[in-house]
Amino acid sequence: MASIEFVQVTKSFDKHDVIKNLDLTIEDGKFTVLVGPSGCGKTTLLRMIAGIDPQTSGSVLIGGKDVTRIPPGERGVAMVFQNYAIYPTMSVRENIEFGLKNNKVDKAERTRLVESISETVGLGGYLDRKPSTLSGGQRQRVALARAMVKKPSVFLMDEPLSNLDAKLRAQMRIELIELHKKLGTTFVFVTHDQVEAMSMADTIVLMNQGRIQQEAAPEVIYRKPSNMFTAQFIGVPPMNVGDLMKDGARFGFRPEHAILSQEPGGLHYSVRGTIATREMLGSETLYQVKTSGGQSSYMVKSVQDLFRVDQEVYLGVDAAKLIFFDAEGRRID
Ligand code: ATP
Repeated sequence: MASIEFVQVTKSFDKHDVIKNLDLTIEDGKFTVLVGPSGCGKTTLLRMIAGIDPQTSGSVLIGGKDVTRIPPGERGVAMVFQNYAIYPTMSVRENIEFGLKNNKVDKAERTRLVESISETVGLGGYLDRKPSTLSGGQRQRVALARAMVKKPSVFLMDEPLSNLDAKLRAQMRIELIELHKKLGTTFVFVTHDQVEAMSMADTIVLMNQGRIQQEAAPEVIYRKPSNMFTAQFIGVPPMNVGDLMKDGARFGFRPEHAILSQEPGGLHYSVRGTIATREMLGSETLYQVKTSGGQSSYMVKSVQDLFRVDQEVYLGVDAAKLIFFDAEGRRID
């Protein structure tokens, strides 16, 4: 059992509360992604789980056990960082073996573990290579293997993919999903990249300013954002938001839920506008539409490429796809 619980956890730096009275349960064996803008407290949460920088008050439990007084090395957690610490002068094998030697695991068992784990992460043929001869993705896998060899019950990962180029990042995302499936261990992954969160998580914990905004499966966060912040943080480009002329309430719709046409259609909500910009994305085209009168502009994502800049269009949204927010920005059901 390696669920993680935060119970009324507060973390302060210089009397300033970065996290305040946080309650959160991270389920055993799940791939949980902590996501949110820079400075929202993601790394602080991870460091509290690891015990590197303990909470100011409240309790952190791993596997149902309060770990407040348990030092980092005895918590059964392994951490992989953005700047993964691998030793440049050691071979891949020596890097992976390093922690085991320190723990006085005997030679035969070390060899067996290193070989089986290097196969799991696809480094089987690279054990005698030096890190400088590996690609960024392979180096990242060495860092993962180093963490895995300790057989942790919890993997903590702090932006481990952010130093990789876009293609490699996409590949490593799939590899991490597969690795999680193979290991069945609790993964807690920190990122500020909502695409990483959406593509890998069983559960997303979306934070802002030290508070949890929503905790749900990716598709739930996408379809039923709990508030304006969530609605606009998740999704590229973000959800369109417009004012309803009463009580400060607002409506929102996703760019792919709008339809452009030359004639007013049978849709419930339709406004006239002009195409301001057009971006070809390959399989889709992204339009920015300025409404007539110019008060508002909305993004529209379409699989069709029928419209040109300066063209007059009707922008329609299916009423069933509209989302409404109250004056405090909370979604209204
Ligand atoms: P990023 O995505 O930029 O890494 P984050 O969400 O991981 O951000 P944290 O690193 O957890 O954010 O920081 C949360 C807040 O706590 C920030 O306002 C940060 O300035 C503050 N903070 C973190 N560590 C310390 C520290 N050692 N001393 C003082 N303030 C700190």
